Amino acid sequence: MALKLYNTLSLKKEEFKPLKNKKVGLYTCGPTVYNFVHIGNLRTFIFEDILRRTLEHNNYQVKHVMNITDVGHLVSDENEGEDKIEKSAREQKKTAWDIAKFYTQEFKKDIADLNIEPAQIMPRATDHIKEQMALIKILEKKGFTYKTSDGIYFDTSKFKKYGKLGKVNIKGLKAGARIKKGDKKHHTDFALWKFSPQLGSRQAHRQMEWSSPWGIGFPGWHIECSAMAVKYLSQPFDIHTGGIDHIPIHHQNEIAQSEGAYDKPLANYWMHGEFLVIDKKKMAKSESNFITLKILKEQGYHPLVYRFFVLNAHYRTQLNFSWEAMESAQAGLEHLYNQVSNLKSKNLKLTSKNIDKKFKQKFLNAINDDLNTPKALAVMQELLKSRLVTDDCKLATILDFDKILGLKIKESLVSIKIPEKIKKIAEERLEARQNKDWNKSDILRKKINQLGFKIKDTKDGYTLKKS
Ligand SMILES: [Zn+2]
Repeated sequence: MALKLYNTLSLKKEEFKPLKNKKVGLYTCGPTVYNFVHIGNLRTFIFEDILRRTLEHNNYQVKHVMNITDVGHLVSDENEGEDKIEKSAREQKKTAWDIAKFYTQEFKKDIADLNIEPAQIMPRATDHIKEQMALIKILEKKGFTYKTSDGIYFDTSKFKKYGKLGKVNIKGLKAGARIKKGDKKHHTDFALWKFSPQLGSRQAHRQMEWSSPWGIGFPGWHIECSAMAVKYLSQPFDIHTGGIDHIPIHHQNEIAQSEGAYDKPLANYWMHGEFLVIDKKKMAKSESNFITLKILKEQGYHPLVYRFFVLNAHYRTQLNFSWEAMESAQAGLEHLYNQVSNLKSKNLKLTSKNIDKKFKQKFLNAINDDLNTPKALAVMQELLKSRLVTDDCKLATILDFDKILGLKIKESLVSIKIPEKIKKIAEERLEARQNKDWNKSDILRKKINQLGFKIKDTKDGYTLKKS
């Protein structure tokens, strides 16, 4: 079955047709690195990972770019308030650069924990100030900009298609405007370049600022994505993704800038992940429902339990988080691992010849239908229960499915498969280490190695793996 994706531009599922034969350019809006990301953000990154793996499974070569926002994202998306990173730096008494570096590393750890394939290119906004200024200059030349007391703004009335993504009701946006208009000509106008506050003003002097043709300041949040997308993927490219909260402002603005500057589409497909909610409320830093992956781990949940929980809902439906739901996700994933480990086949060297074609087709029909992961998981259960497929073929087929699902089923099998005999030697060795009998510990390590396993010491004990 051909790959079908829901496109926010047309509000329809469409057959995916890449610009270049078998090559796909994918841009996903990355994190603003002023704090830990919450598990609602991580839900979006998991959806994007499934998209990328699905494209790769359909034999596309994916060039994936994800930006790191380390400047310019203000407390409110509508250019109001303090820069999130500068604010965090002030509160934590660190430099803005240290804050950005620290939370970038934490973000990378989170996505690794969730078995999300990192983008090949992860450009930082602060490394692309020149590119952003160059784009603003083009927009200035074409008459899209004007100056106010606090920056250079994009005049949205000059971009006729403003609001086309998701057919957003721009009039409604204006009417509902809690957005302060200030010196702006229209409510929807947004900053391309903001001036640093003058010394002696109420805000402290900024740490991150650059000189520009318009004055010392910093780029707006939206311009970084437009500038970096065209640099790494050129324009148009195939797929642009993000959270559903990006539709009304951030992505409209990216489109206005990029299409205004170059008179061609920014991307052909726009895809958006729905919210994770708690008690019908969106998860956000400003709410008291801010849960990070670290908190889940502290509560005893493996990050892959969260991945499994997320895959049980389609990415375009709201997903309700609760601790009870995590508990059943944990049981569900453990059950799946057990089902696979109970298969009589333990042959991890099976080849694609062993993959059951009928079930593979069923699975692809589900995943290629706009990434229907709940249905794909159901196909996997159907396969496990089937009496018509041998255990060898079941195992090979499930390991093939897991290339998309990313639940590390193969690894779970290896860790379950440690024979009692090896476990016993490892325990004996732990005791020797505790008694500081390094000689004995060394001998036992060699014995374990000879039997085809590897032991690695950790803070609380050890881990065992097949070598
Ligand atoms: Zn973006």
